[in-house]
Formats: sequence, C-alpha cells, structure tokens
Amino acid sequence: MRVLSVNPGSSSLKTTLLDGEDILADHEIPLEDSVTGMRKALAALSLWRHKSPPQAIGVRVVHGGRAFEDSVRVDPEVLSVLEKLIPLAPLHLPIAIRVLSALTGMGHSLPVVAVFDTQFHRTLPETARRYALPEEWEKDEGIEKYGFHGLSYDDVVHRLPTLLGATLPERLVAVHWGNGASACALLRGQSVETSMGLTPLDGLVMGTRPGSIDPGIFPTLLRKGYTPEALEEALNHRSGLFALSGGVSDFREIEERLERKDPRAVLAFEKAVLSVAMAVGAYSAILGGLEALVLTGGIGEHSWRAREAVMKRLAFLGVRDDPEANRSGTGDRRVSGEDSRVAVWALHAREDRTIARETQRIVGYMAKENQKAGGVNA
Ligand code: ADP
Repeated sequence: MRVLSVNPGSSSLKTTLLDGEDILADHEIPLEDSVTGMRKALAALSLWRHKSPPQAIGVRVVHGGRAFEDSVRVDPEVLSVLEKLIPLAPLHLPIAIRVLSALTGMGHSLPVVAVFDTQFHRTLPETARRYALPEEWEKDEGIEKYGFHGLSYDDVVHRLPTLLGATLPERLVAVHWGNGASACALLRGQSVETSMGLTPLDGLVMGTRPGSIDPGIFPTLLRKGYTPEALEEALNHRSGLFALSGGVSDFREIEERLERKDPRAVLAFEKAVLSVAMAVGAYSAILGGLEALVLTGGIGEHSWRAREAVMKRLAFLGVRDDPEANRSGTGDRRVSGEDSRVAVWALHAREDRTIARETQRIVGYMAKENQKAGGVNA
C-alpha cells in the first residue's frame, strides 16, 4: 500500500510517500507559519497525486494521552478529543491538530490515520508509569509517565533483527539522540522504561531542554514571581546544551567548539554524554543485563565523538568500541568491536516506516470490519 507519511516537527513538516517500506518521494516543508506550511504540504500532495497517488495518509502525533493507546482513523470526534489533550503537549499538539484538520478537510476520500508517539510505551509497568506523587494527581490530573519517540523505537524493534541476522536481543536499550533525546529499555521488544515522562522535557540533556532536574526548582521560581509560561518557555527553548554552552544547541557547532577547547562546549558535551551513559547504566540494571545498544537520531547516527564517549563510559558493561568502524561509514552499521559483550549499532531513524506500517494496519483492520458489516447486511 502507498502511504503518505506526514511528520510535523517544530520547525518543518516532513512528508514521505512510501510503498511498503520503499520511499517513492519525500519532501520537507519549512513550517514558517502553519498556513504557508499547510498550503505547501497540500501542493506537494496534489503533485504526488498525478504520479503514484497515496492510498492513505498517516500523521505523527506526539501525545495520545490516555485517550489513544493505539493508532486511529481521524474523524471530527478524534479531533475534538485531541483538542482536550492540548494541555499535555501545548507546543506540539496544536500543530498536529492543524495538520490533521487540513488533511481531513481536503475533500478526498483517503483515510487519514493518527499514529501516536506515546502508544509504543503502553507496555510500561506500573513501576515506570507511576510517579511517586500523590495518587489524586494521577487519578484526577493524568500525571503519569507517557514516554515519547515511540515511532523511532518501534522501527528499531522491527529493523534490528534483519540487520543482526538474528532474533531481536532480549535486553536492548535504544537511545533516540537528536535535538530532542530519550532512552528506552526494551525487554523482548517491549518498552519497560523510558526517560521522557508526562512531557518531552524529562530525561537526557537535550538541545534546548534540560532533562532530569530537581522538581523543587519550580516552586522556588514560582514564589519569586516567574509565571508558568515563562518557566515553560525557558525549559523548552533555553535550557539543555543551549544553556550550558552559552547559546548553542546544534551539536555540530558544539563539536566545532570542542576542537577549540571552549570550556562551555566541553561542559555541554560531557553532561549530555553522561546523561546518556547514566540512562544506559540504569536501564541495564532494570533489564538485568544488556545485549545490544542502538544509537539513533541526528547525534546518535552521525556523531562519532558522542558515540565514542558513551561507549567508553560503558566499558564496565563490557562495551568495546571499534574505533575504525565508529569513526567512518554512514547509515545503519555496527560500531562496537568484535570483543564487545554488547553489540552497539548506529541507525538512521525511520519514523516514516512506523507511520506507514501503522497506517496500513489500521486501514486493513477497517477494511475487514467493513467486510464483516457488509456480510451481515447482505
Ligand atoms: P530532531 O530531534 O529535531 O529530529 P535530529 O534527529 O535531526 O533532531 O538531530 C539533530 C541534531 O543532530 C543536531 O544537534 C545536529 O547538530 C546533530 N547532527 C546532525 N548531523 C551531525 C553530524 N554529522 N555530527 C554531529 N552532530 C550532528
């Protein structure tokens, strides 16, 4: 089935036309403002209609809350439930809702399917999902761990066996390390712990987000007169590498400054690497060992320095890097040495494949349901 995968990011809209797992075309549209972005997206879509038209559209939605534990065909009711979830992801959901509304309101008959980043983590055990916070916050306010980057982790689980030429390792940690970053502990392919929580702010040190910090910071600042909006802005846009390095969130630029021995870039790099190594160490304890580690996302896939620093930190787990493999090559590849007790892989993140796979599954399910209904009616 040909699926148009639509991935709305904070600064761009990635659209990919896939036939099964093969990419037929892709198009990245800067999201200068949502209206211009959407017009361009629709123009690109009608362009593809002439050649090999999509048979369904799948859209990445960052947060499904408790309402959506599975991908769903989008209709007005789904959109109205999503509207209610905006407080859970105020920076991401409004864009996704605008994209979904535009795509469903185009006057075509193609099914539009929402695929949620949170749904992969529905397997989290209560020890991971529950925060040690008052029970009524969980019950009444939905304060619990949801986890993100699920589309990326889902594809790792699907792709790794083929790359390894073996079954999926029982005890695997995957790290999606880009501007946003998280880690996931996977036991037999299921998420049992992950570093992002109610929101995508928790866990690892990111481009402009802080990762784990003391929650006591917030009442302290609120009492000093900071508003929730000011805190949210600083936590989303001016923290992480950006804060530590003195204004640089792009990892490539941090690396350039490392060459010049800029102490603030060294601090930013070290703290980011440590946060990843700490997550992998902790998750190995949860999994009872570690067989494989996957590093993906812009930094995980491309930065040999970041991978090398993480692998060295993990030597106590029996991780040994292969300096030559790690420093050269591109694409999906093994970067650990023959003597490593843990196989370490650098992978190109393919969220579009999960979107396409899920869209195809939901459309197939709908077709079966329709057939059943047709059979009863006949
Ligand atoms: P997003 O979370 O926005 O999808 P990406 O996964 O595209 O982010 O990752 C972006 C990050 O990857 C940026 O910090 C960028 O500097 C970094 N990156 C991309 N290519 C390289 C490279 N060749 N070397 C080091 N870092 C890289």
